[in-house]
Amino acid sequence: MAARAEPSRCFAIIGSGPAGHTAAIYAARANLGPVLFEGMMAGGVAPGGQLTTTTDVENFPGFPGGIMGGELTDRLREQSERFGTTIVTETVTRVDLSARPIRLWREDADGDAHTPDTCDALIVATGATAKRLHIKGEAEYWQRGMSACAVCDGAAPIFRGKPLVVIGGGDSACEEATFLTKYASHVYIAVRRDAFRASSIMAKRASSNPKITVLWNTHVVEAKGDGSALTHVVLQDAKTQATRDFPVAGLFYAIGHTPNTAFLQGQLDTDETGYLLVKPGSTLTNIRGVFAAGDVQDKHYRQAITAAGTGCMAALDAEKYLEDLAAEAQEKAAAEAHKAAVEDHEPAGKL
Ligand code: FAD
Ligand code: NAP
Repeated sequence: MAARAEPSRCFAIIGSGPAGHTAAIYAARANLGPVLFEGMMAGGVAPGGQLTTTTDVENFPGFPGGIMGGELTDRLREQSERFGTTIVTETVTRVDLSARPIRLWREDADGDAHTPDTCDALIVATGATAKRLHIKGEAEYWQRGMSACAVCDGAAPIFRGKPLVVIGGGDSACEEATFLTKYASHVYIAVRRDAFRASSIMAKRASSNPKITVLWNTHVVEAKGDGSALTHVVLQDAKTQATRDFPVAGLFYAIGHTPNTAFLQGQLDTDETGYLLVKPGSTLTNIRGVFAAGDVQDKHYRQAITAAGTGCMAALDAEKYLEDLAAEAQEKAAAEAHKAAVEDHEPAGKL
């Protein structure tokens, strides 16, 4: 029986949310010696990813009493390190996926004068950032009545039995508004023009819900509160510019997400909205040896547990790839040795 090929140890992960750290835990336990670049406020988010921006996480399995977002990310990081992951607190600003080894440049050393980091296999787990409007009052009331994730935050006591407003006119806005009707007294969808962007089925479902009212041609321009929680928003009519105070206990952004892929400079295939494309049922991108996990390749579910699940898949896919690579190298070396041996035994002076 052939000896199992030793996998290469040159293995990198970019991103530090549940996807990146789950990939690191699996890769480290498989003795792949992963190096994880956790970012330095990459995309404006602290190392640990989107969960660092929230309070209670109540739907991550294993924590029946819930867990604070920051504590969960600390624990994921600790678990990665426990098995030997090397964590680098730097943002990767550029990669070259066209040759082997793959080359990566860190933010503080992004220039041709600097020696790049290299790896044979790479997992991209850089997440996505929810778009925000940064309206007046947002800095004060963010996570105190304002959120960009209805599924994550909608069940919080401050929203129960209260009027809420969702901004956006796409499928997310319709889906999140419908979801919020489970808790709210009433949900308003503020749409900036006179039509939904959402698919007709989602738009119909939302607009026919008796607990939802659509506010057409409406901008939300300010968040107001009592100093500790949101109590009002200021609405502006997009046509007349007239403004009015509107009492709500919650404001949810559903105006889309931006996947964090700019540093890839178009080297990996994406869909029309910038999410990385993977081979269905796997984490394989269009470039061999490069894998994608978490929200950066998932515009549909966008949950911590799904990100962690695809992080696990990416590590297993990458491990298999490195084993294949080592086996290919052994086969190539054996073929070259065989060829050299045959040439050595050929009679000299043969015409
Ligand atoms: P992210 O968490 O997005 O982390 C990726 C991180 O990698 C980035 O934040 C950054 O720190 C780093 N990074 C990015 N680019 C680079 C780079 N170039 N170089 C180095 N590092 C880089 N989900 C739930 O299941 N339950 C919840 O209760 C919940 N609450 C949420 C509350 C809020 C306010 C938000 C915004 C999201 C919430 N989510 C929740 C969704 C959940 O946070 C995401 O689905 C999950 O974090 C995605 O994980 P990820 O690993 O793909 O990436
Ligand atoms: P989206 O389709 O890009 O819609 C974003 C919405 O936000 C649009 O209505 C847009 O208005 C509005 N918007 C953008 N910037 C705004 C601003 N500055 N102020 C006010 N409104 C603003 O994003 P999405 O709804 O998150 O959907 C993303 C993708 O995921 C889509 O492909 C969608 O089909 C898919 N998705 C599917 C499901 C499902 O099938 N169950 C659920 C969620 C998402 P304009 O229309 O005027 O640009």
